[in-house]
Amino acid sequence: VKTGGRNNYRFFEASMNAAARRAIEIQRGLAVAVTNGELFLQYQPKFDCGSGSILGAEALIRWRHPALGLVSPAEFIPIAERSGQIITVGQWVIEEVCRNLRSWDAVRPGAMRIAINLSQIQLRSPQVVEDILAITERHGVPPAMLMFEITETVAMQNAEETRRAIDRLQQAGFEMAIDDFGTGYSSLSYLQEFGVQQMKVDRSFIAKLTETAKGGAIVAAIIRLAHSLGMEVVAEGVETEAQLALLKELKCDQTQGYLLARPLNGADFVALLDRHAAG
Ligand code: C2E
Ligand code: CA
Ligand code: CA
Ligand code: CA
Repeated sequence: VKTGGRNNYRFFEASMNAAARRAIEIQRGLAVAVTNGELFLQYQPKFDCGSGSILGAEALIRWRHPALGLVSPAEFIPIAERSGQIITVGQWVIEEVCRNLRSWDAVRPGAMRIAINLSQIQLRSPQVVEDILAITERHGVPPAMLMFEITETVAMQNAEETRRAIDRLQQAGFEMAIDDFGTGYSSLSYLQEFGVQQMKVDRSFIAKLTETAKGGAIVAAIIRLAHSLGMEVVAEGVETEAQLALLKELKCDQTQGYLLARPLNGADFVALLDRHAAG
């Protein structure tokens, strides 16, 4: 028994080391990922819930590491946040969205917005608004073509600099969305604090939407709450026709999810836009 315990401990230590080694490899790899051209974006459309037309898309970062293959942003974004590399990576995302927008004739100013995920670390960096304005102006992309998705965290409460950054971005003409609504620690106080245009209901609520009466009641209440505050509601992670039907009934504004479209490479997103425009 004693030896078994010892072996377990060794095994535990070894797997800890493997996880730590992978994190270090990811951090090292990220340092050259931008210059080596290993990052790319996919775009997941946002659809009008009622008509099914495309109202925009969310840019989602992808990384093809030379040895590790595709690494999920769910794995490398938190590492980049801890190391501070999120600033460089985040700037690359904004640049790349601007470059893409400039090359897509199908996307006209005012017709739709591309949503960019902004990390809390980016939002709290003192230069964030100047950086965003400098990049978009350099590429000639008007703020009306972009919006930013931010998540709520404990750190958000009373973060005066965060509130100022959000205000300034909105004054410049960008819209803001609260991402993953309902999963943070401060959902309601957050709503009181910030006037943002869009609320994205977290996928975990949509997954339970049609399963229990409670699940439906919670989403219905979130939608009413958002509407009473003058916000648009986006349901994320819509995977079934039953979910879509109920969301329409509940007067949800927009839907996003594998049922209607997975994240697409830029060319495929533009092809989808063309098909929608033609049909
Ligand atoms: P998120 O912002 O909540 O993005 C939605 C995630 O859900 C994406 O995962 C998307 O591919 C996935 N998804 C969309 N529809 C469905 C569905 O119907 N079912 C399921 N099961 N999943 C769906 P992804 O692309 O792996 O991104 C994970 C997270 O990484 C994002 O969550 C976001 O927090 C972060 N992230 C991605 N790109 C960026 C970025 O450019 N900057 C920052 N700061 N974070 C990013
Ligand atoms: Ca998002
Ligand atoms: Ca989300
Ligand atoms: Ca998320």
